[in-house]
Amino acid sequence: MQVLSTTEELRHYIANLKAENPNKTIGLVPTMGALHNGHLSLIQQSKEQCDYTIVSIFVNPTQFAPNEDFDKYPRKKEADLNICQKTDVDIVFMPEIAQMYPLDSTLQTTFNAPKNMANVLEGKTRPGHFDGVLQIVLKLFNLTQPTKAFFGQKDAQQLLIIQKMVEDLFLPITIVSCPIVRTQEGLALSSRNVYLSENGKKDALKISSALNAITKAIMQGIQDSKALKKIAFEVLENIEVEYLVIVNRELEEIKTIKKDSTLVLIVARIEGVRLLDNLWF
Ligand code: AMP
Repeated sequence: MQVLSTTEELRHYIANLKAENPNKTIGLVPTMGALHNGHLSLIQQSKEQCDYTIVSIFVNPTQFAPNEDFDKYPRKKEADLNICQKTDVDIVFMPEIAQMYPLDSTLQTTFNAPKNMANVLEGKTRPGHFDGVLQIVLKLFNLTQPTKAFFGQKDAQQLLIIQKMVEDLFLPITIVSCPIVRTQEGLALSSRNVYLSENGKKDALKISSALNAITKAIMQGIQDSKALKKIAFEVLENIEVEYLVIVNRELEEIKTIKKDSTLVLIVARIEGVRLLDNLWF
């Protein structure tokens, strides 16, 4: 496994790799580290679908607002490298901030995610978040030139906005959307779960239970969003729900659910930790 930390090394490595293996495919798995089984499932998909797998580990400052947990965000370099080694990753790219952002922000080309998709839901409480996500993802795409890039459905809005960027900018990359990995009890895995106490984890299970209740109701024929939300809110009793919405792929709220194009998104705060979960139809 190659561990690279500069953009120059990475460019050089990719150029050689492509020159020597012009027909081989490259899979990119962008992460912020503190790797768990959710990340692992993305890595495994990449290994199944591509000849080479690159995992990037970078806590991207431009997607955090000043009041957010950038400094506190869990960093586990050694453990992450062990996991990558054990999973037989080909390249780990682990740059310092100055590598990805060598210039002051006023001298950098920035990026605007489409307003209608980026200023709602996560973007409403985290202005500029998706601009930062697209900025780093585009830099990583350009550096690694992947055939496919793997993203989790856990971050549904992020996945849809990245898919949109690929379409809008005609990027020659296939985005692979990977299902949410959960604990046995149902909690969606997240690097932020380490902040939760045992009681907090128990409370957090109400989020996936609420989504299950919605699935069950849909199976029974309920299609009205209002009725479905009511069912979910009953399960989420005593939980601080930031939002619970039923939307289409453009992230617009819909009154009646439609097969294959509906997303139910829940964000709740437990013990001060923001937890995201969702359901894709
Ligand atoms: P992060 O390190 O949190 O930026 O996540 C890196 C990638 O892993 C993103 O594409 C996430 O959507 C994905 N991911 C995080 N948690 C999970 C999970 N529980 N199941 C599947 N994918 C996940």
